Amino acid sequence: MNVLAADIGGTNIRVGIVDDAGVVVLRDEDETPSSGSAEDLANTVAKFARRIKDQSNLDIAVFGLAIPGVIDYDSGRVSLSPNIPQMNGMKFGEMVSKATGVQVVLENDATAAAIGEHWLGAARGHSNAICITLGTGVGGGLIINGAAFSGADGTAGEIGHLNVEPDGYPCGCGSRGCLEQYASATAVVRMAEERLSAGETSSVSRSDSMSAKDLYDAAIVGDDFALSVFATAGRYLGIACADLVNLLNPEVIVFAGGLASAWEVLEGPIIAEMKLRAYQQPAERVKLCRGELDDDAGILGAAKQAFTVINKGNSRS
Ligand SMILES: [Zn+2]
Repeated sequence: MNVLAADIGGTNIRVGIVDDAGVVVLRDEDETPSSGSAEDLANTVAKFARRIKDQSNLDIAVFGLAIPGVIDYDSGRVSLSPNIPQMNGMKFGEMVSKATGVQVVLENDATAAAIGEHWLGAARGHSNAICITLGTGVGGGLIINGAAFSGADGTAGEIGHLNVEPDGYPCGCGSRGCLEQYASATAVVRMAEERLSAGETSSVSRSDSMSAKDLYDAAIVGDDFALSVFATAGRYLGIACADLVNLLNPEVIVFAGGLASAWEVLEGPIIAEMKLRAYQQPAERVKLCRGELDDDAGILGAAKQAFTVINKGNSRS
């Protein structure tokens, strides 16, 4: 059995055909159109999906779609998508379904990553798992008692907006001091720029094109400044992990997304800070690790939701 699956990001759209063992048998990737209406975006996604479906010659009944937004699972409406605002208020799944002729199931992208890692990655075999995605922003997905948990209105798991600094840096959500402002790739670069401007020195020179990867490359060869920036990000992640551990007693917390490739320099500070703050028993039990599926976590989670629809006729039970 095969399904279509896609992971729509602010920059790229990944589309694939996935079999029931979780193998991506065909894949394609293209840029997310930066302008246009929700209809344009739905038609673009549908065009990619049709192209790959025609190549495969397979019968496909369901299309799983991971999107960067809050989904009202009852109505199928996208309540809020800060990165792709044209989706706001739209029944985006229905639009893609009309354009493809295939039933669509929508899932939040960070929840999809958690489902993917739970199905085939670092959280497999664990009934209580948390996935934290570290990229341009910080996302979160929760697996509780073996199932994705989205709360009353689909907004649960916004780990990036847990407060870690009461009077901290302003956040796009309207609050300040959110984890996202200290532990995303964007935040790591901002914190480094602030400290270099204040006179600290590093082998990484301050420039408009400085990236989190430049800082990681410097950290890995022992640049004290870069290591210290990652230690700060790790400390804030550790504060959030302590709260999550105290709240949910998870078996595993998986770190996914581009910045998780800096796991080697983040792991120590995260675990040290978490252990300082969390209850001893759940802190000792929880395993913190990097995701195993890299960029495929979202698409595989979306595929898993599509198989769940086929098997049970309901995406979230
Ligand atoms: Zn926020």
